[in-house]
Amino acid sequence: MPEAARPAPGLRLAGFRAPVTRGDVAPRLRLAGIVEDSIVDGPGLRLTIFTQGCPHGCPGCHNPETHPVNGGSFHSLDELVARYRENPLLSGVTFSGGEPFLQASPLAVLAGRIHALGGTVITYTGYIFEELAGRAPMDAAVAALLDATDLLIDGPYIEALRSLDIAWRGSSNQRLLDRELRARLLSLAG
Ligand code: SF4
Repeated sequence: MPEAARPAPGLRLAGFRAPVTRGDVAPRLRLAGIVEDSIVDGPGLRLTIFTQGCPHGCPGCHNPETHPVNGGSFHSLDELVARYRENPLLSGVTFSGGEPFLQASPLAVLAGRIHALGGTVITYTGYIFEELAGRAPMDAAVAALLDATDLLIDGPYIEALRSLDIAWRGSSNQRLLDRELRARLLSLAG
């Protein structure tokens, strides 16, 4: 979802069937692809994981192959952690897509394992933070992935706001929300 491949507005988690998540912990993820040494998906060198399945349908999306929830291929969390460990230069992982919050539960588990190795976790989403935060009290998987995310890059990709001058984002409406900013937004929302 970086660059022009960013999400669209107004779509809800409700009613959309996640492709993998079952219970609190799923042992594997359905992925569209993996980039092992990305320099465009956040600070430092990152293992970027492109999740499969996206409900947003952003006009101008550059990754339409990530949309079908039954596409891609399965990868175990053990495999992904092993790939992370292979490169000591990595700063962390980036969850992109597709829509990562469709597989929030296994991603939250993976994020915990990356944190345990000293890495940081960035999550892209087509949803806006406030919407996810509103769902979190009723959806443990969403809450867990939000909690496991050091930097959330939120909001839809809007072609009219496309910009090549903003770090890590495709359009200027998208926000870089670290933990402090998210806490501030929640306190402002009261
Ligand atoms: S959220 Fe989905 S439709 Fe939107 S840019 Fe990302 S992959 Fe494309």
